[in-house]
Amino acid sequence: MDNSWSARAACHGLDPRIFFPADDDEASLAKAVCDSCPVREPCLEYALGEREREGVWGGCTEGERRRIVRRRRRAAS
Ligand code: SF4
Repeated sequence: MDNSWSARAACHGLDPRIFFPADDDEASLAKAVCDSCPVREPCLEYALGEREREGVWGGCTEGERRRIVRRRRRAAS
């Protein structure tokens, strides 16, 4: 998988703990960074493809990624 997108990540150099909030309510700071990130889409697809279970990836929390996966499965069936 091509992960070259990560070199342009807006979160590069930030405290990674920001992206692993205790719950969705604490995810707002990470989501704000992701909102301005130029590689949001490939980051999200990476997380979906790797089944990343924790953290904010591509502006989505774990629960939001689960919903995306469910929606895609329904659309494909
Ligand atoms: S979308 Fe968010 S988590 Fe992904 S690379 Fe960008 S800032 Fe980092």
